[in-house]
Amino acid sequence: MPPVHETTLEINLKSLEHNYNYLRSKLAKGSKIMAVVKAFGYGSESVEIAKKLSELGVGYFAVAYTKEGVALREAGITAPILVLHPQSINFEEIIERCLEPSIYSEFVLKAFIKTAEKLEQNEYPIHLKLNTGLNRLGFIAPELNTVFEYLAKSDAVKVKSIFSHLAASEDWKEREFTLQQLDKFRKMAFRSFQNLDYRPLLHISNTSAIINYPEAAFDMVRCGIGLYGFGNDENINKHLKPIGTLKTIVSQIHQLVPGESVGYKRAFTATEKMKSATLPIGYADGINRQYGNGRGGVFINGNYAPIIGNVCMDMLMIDITGIDCKEGDEVIVFGGPHHATQFAASGNTISYELITGISQRVKRVIVQE
Ligand SMILES: *Cc1c(COP(=O)(O)O)cnc(C)c1O
Repeated sequence: MPPVHETTLEINLKSLEHNYNYLRSKLAKGSKIMAVVKAFGYGSESVEIAKKLSELGVGYFAVAYTKEGVALREAGITAPILVLHPQSINFEEIIERCLEPSIYSEFVLKAFIKTAEKLEQNEYPIHLKLNTGLNRLGFIAPELNTVFEYLAKSDAVKVKSIFSHLAASEDWKEREFTLQQLDKFRKMAFRSFQNLDYRPLLHISNTSAIINYPEAAFDMVRCGIGLYGFGNDENINKHLKPIGTLKTIVSQIHQLVPGESVGYKRAFTATEKMKSATLPIGYADGINRQYGNGRGGVFINGNYAPIIGNVCMDMLMIDITGIDCKEGDEVIVFGGPHHATQFAASGNTISYELITGISQRVKRVIVQE
């Protein structure tokens, strides 16, 4: 890998392929993978990810918001795309772009049918979202009859899938709750099959459920974080390869004497002779202030260097005392042997938040090996 000269997020498509193959191997033959590429492909690069996954055989994508689906369409992705959280203001655009909405409330169902009728659609694909306990989006059991009444009255839409989302599929202590969610899902799906004269696809599993609840794979699983190389669990992590490596460089080195301070609010003071380095990455790049003051750290030539003082908007400073390095040297924030899960934990958060938070200012580079 040639050295970087600025802050760069390297995205390795070979690792993506590895993760896809691993997750695929955990699924029964009949189940398909819907790849979740919301939030810029979990902070990576949604278009390149979607293209690679299409080559590997993924035939369904999911995004959170309409504009994310539109971006994939503009880039030439033709596979069906589920929009998990559309707003009624986007419904015409959804239809114009052949995106498929999640329908999670009576308000949204009515509004979407109205738009589909106005645009003279016939059996436009929609996905019914059921609330089985997450209490975020979705219909509860007593609301289903109203849903069936609306559906019976209009040919403009057709239910392509029925789905729900698990609250704690990664947590063994919540196994009983998860099994209850699965049971509710089966019962509500069965009622739906009886009321519709066709059988929509069923899906409920996210990444952790693929591994922990193989019996819940149904027709499809919605896989996000696993494709990007994280498994919410040491035992799963060891089979996956994080696709992103966040690199930066040493901009400047300072020799400090005792009593000198570093950064805003003078949050760090040297107590002995030491060396600090300034890096061109800060909270506006997604390395938030929670990593400052010794909590997070980076790697230079294999050596750990803790962040000192407060993280600035565009920069942060590290302690490189005793580390052999010079201005221009490469710095690894996370990636490879330096797992982003650990970096995230140092700031009291999870891999999901860290990687999706790497801002669009950071250059993305796709690597294939
Ligand atoms: C983000 C999301 C997923 C993907 O979950 P992972 O844990 O990243 O695999 C699946 N379904 C819904 C509804 C989501 O919002």
